[in-house]
Amino acid sequence: MAETYDLIIIGGGPGGYNCAIRAGQLGLKVACVEKGTTLGGTCLNVGCIPSKALLHASEIYEGVSGPYADLGIKASGVSLDLEKMMASKAETVDGLTKGIAFLFKKNKVEHITGTGRIVGAGQVEVTDAKGKTTTLATKNIVIATGSEVTPLPGVEIDEERIVSSTGALSLPKVPKSMVVIGAGVIGLELGSVWRRLGAQVSVVEFLPRILPGADAEIAKQAQRQFKRQGFDFHLGMKVTGIEKLKTKLKLTMEPAKGGETQTLEAETVLVCIGRRPYTQGLGLEEVGVKTDKRGFIETDHWKTGAPGIWAIGDCTTGPMLAHKAEEEGVACAEAIVGKAAHVNYNVIPGVVYTSPEIAWVGRTEEELKEAGIAFKKGAFPFTANSRARANHETAGFVKVLADAATDEILGVHMMGPNVSEMIGEAALAMEFRAASEDIARTCHAHPTLSEALRQAAMGVEGWTMQM
Ligand code: FAD
Ligand code: NAD
Repeated sequence: MAETYDLIIIGGGPGGYNCAIRAGQLGLKVACVEKGTTLGGTCLNVGCIPSKALLHASEIYEGVSGPYADLGIKASGVSLDLEKMMASKAETVDGLTKGIAFLFKKNKVEHITGTGRIVGAGQVEVTDAKGKTTTLATKNIVIATGSEVTPLPGVEIDEERIVSSTGALSLPKVPKSMVVIGAGVIGLELGSVWRRLGAQVSVVEFLPRILPGADAEIAKQAQRQFKRQGFDFHLGMKVTGIEKLKTKLKLTMEPAKGGETQTLEAETVLVCIGRRPYTQGLGLEEVGVKTDKRGFIETDHWKTGAPGIWAIGDCTTGPMLAHKAEEEGVACAEAIVGKAAHVNYNVIPGVVYTSPEIAWVGRTEEELKEAGIAFKKGAFPFTANSRARANHETAGFVKVLADAATDEILGVHMMGPNVSEMIGEAALAMEFRAASEDIARTCHAHPTLSEALRQAAMGVEGWTMQM
């Protein structure tokens, strides 16, 4: 057996790399085992970052070839260089993954390339690309192996014509038509990218609504916006099969409640019906780490049932979000050294980076009603916000939900321009357990989009100053 570590982390995604860096800062002898060739996990390599790069570029492309004309900007001869767009995305990913390698060095984290497997208490076996194995001894192990695409039974993802998000981030040409299966975050974000670049996009969703995690009122209004942009929605439908024809794909579907079969044809199909925990080959059963019936590792304050083994991020329960994994990574490292570690699971924002953007933090109206919590609501539309008007970006609104008795903010929901940045203010307020009046009486710069949040908060007590 080689060296002894204080901590070995398996997986170098947002959970693993943040845990490793924090552990390094706290003086632990730490190594991070990552089977991929780069650090950063799903988020940096095939998730958050490449998708946001394409969303940004495609939004500008659509803007100059359409909506910017409303602002008096006439562009002619605009054309798409998809290869360049993909190269610029790859350059961003490359720079950021290298940045993590730099942070590892700076914080004395050893980066071990290979596949990790837990072979006993305090023992991690690492197999490198050539099949050579080394067993490392450690006081603590953190499992941060993330998640993988949930397959659709009977549908084979070839990453060329039938793609997952990974294939959809690297298509070599714009398909004429695309069917997206699943109206969740990936479907709407990557569907937006390819629609903006010229594909006719249809979305097939099992449920009668889009974005099941979001506030229903927001989801309904968002669907209206997406429809206006050209998305074609087939809600309450389940896909029963995809036939691969020579030049196209023929998809059959039927109403989820039962009924007549319908067909859709497309050049490309994107399967995005969720992600599932990835713990394959880790040896969990042998060391007594329990998973729930959906395969998520069960934890209590990031501790598994097996002594010295911890788990964080997408492979555990909770929202499958990079910033949730990051919070857990930091907290877990702090818990390992005996610090008072904490993650406030009530204040984890969610963002959908479409246009308009959708963002929320805390509970939805539906969740509050179901929990029997009396609440008051204030709302404000971007049509009445002067900055949104000046920018000609008026779709959407902000909604603040506050406890009827105490006025504590329980949830904030937004759809509109730049709300991905605005939600931070709401999260901070909730972290401090602010009342809606605290936001309502905070001076916000004029003219800013964030005044819409203030006005919505004022609306809780009925003193919104509408135009
Ligand atoms: P991962 O990032 O999945 O990292 C796990 C790592 O473990 C991987 O690198 C894997 O190679 C490695 N690994 C697995 N098993 C082993 C092993 N046995 N040995 C060694 N290494 C191993 N979230 C957001 O918050 N915002 C977004 O905008 C966003 N956009 C997304 C877009 C897409 C298309 C996708 C697919 C996801 C997106 N997500 C987003 C979700 C986000 O990527 C994940 O929540 C996040 O990456 C989870 O981090 P993690 O560290 O738990 O796991
Ligand atoms: P999702 O859970 O957001 O959406 C999946 C959708 O597919 C749901 O609406 C669900 O009802 C539907 N569905 C499930 N089975 C179906 C079926 N058989 N036929 C039709 N529809 C079906 O999952 P996703 O969009 O695949 O994203 C995976 C994860 O990645 C999510 O947990 C998300 O949090 C994360 N992610 C986050 C971001 C972000 O934060 N901006 C972006 C992309 C991905």
